[in-house]
Amino acid sequence: MTSNKFLEVKNISKTYYTLEEETKALENLSFDVNTGEIIVIVGPSGCGKSTILSCIAGLLSPTEGEIIFHNKNKNTGYMFQSDHLFNWRTIMDNVLIGLEVQNKVNERSIARVNKLLDTYGLGDFKKHYPSQLSGGMRQRVALIRTLAIEPELLLLDEPFSALDYQSRLKVSDDIAKIIRQEKKTAIMVTHDISEAIYTKCYLCKCVISKDYLN
Ligand code: ADP
Repeated sequence: MTSNKFLEVKNISKTYYTLEEETKALENLSFDVNTGEIIVIVGPSGCGKSTILSCIAGLLSPTEGEIIFHNKNKNTGYMFQSDHLFNWRTIMDNVLIGLEVQNKVNERSIARVNKLLDTYGLGDFKKHYPSQLSGGMRQRVALIRTLAIEPELLLLDEPFSALDYQSRLKVSDDIAKIIRQEKKTAIMVTHDISEAIYTKCYLCKCVISKDYLN
């Protein structure tokens, strides 16, 4: 029987050491992510959410435990709190930036990016600049920039926190739809339960930090 598991987080702990102190950011955390799932991890600020994502992205090594990728393609896209769009580049040029860095701008990749922008309501804004777009549209551009490099796994670190409450709920819903439609596996972290619930229309699992349950 073939496993549907994308990755396994097995008993990971992470401690940060400085000259003055040590901070235990994660302790004995385990969960599985299946292919095509959107997992939302909810917890208050400082409980270790960004640390989890950095460990999965390979930017940090856990102090203990391991992260096992079952999917051969580890290509990972990371979406941050701020959209980090370059204001002097058009939307099209912003979306192409990851491909430029990887030297993968070609007819095929440009066609794919054009299709993503058209499909997700940004077709008329390709020649606009980020300052001409709403916060929600900018987050969609940031997601399309991440999707442009064809990641199998998306890591989203509080991607809507810069938006006002109404836009946040709408954009959570939009982004969850896009991730589902593009058949990606995603792990999102947030401190905002309502954001998690809105994304939850499409999610299979929700890991809630024990700090919220106390
Ligand atoms: P969250 O994303 O939930 O806000 P973080 O993963 O950023 O939490 O941080 C978890 C804990 O680890 C916090 O107490 C934070 O101060 C600490 N921490 C994070 N990064 C470092 C670092 N580079 N050095 C020392 N402590 C850190």
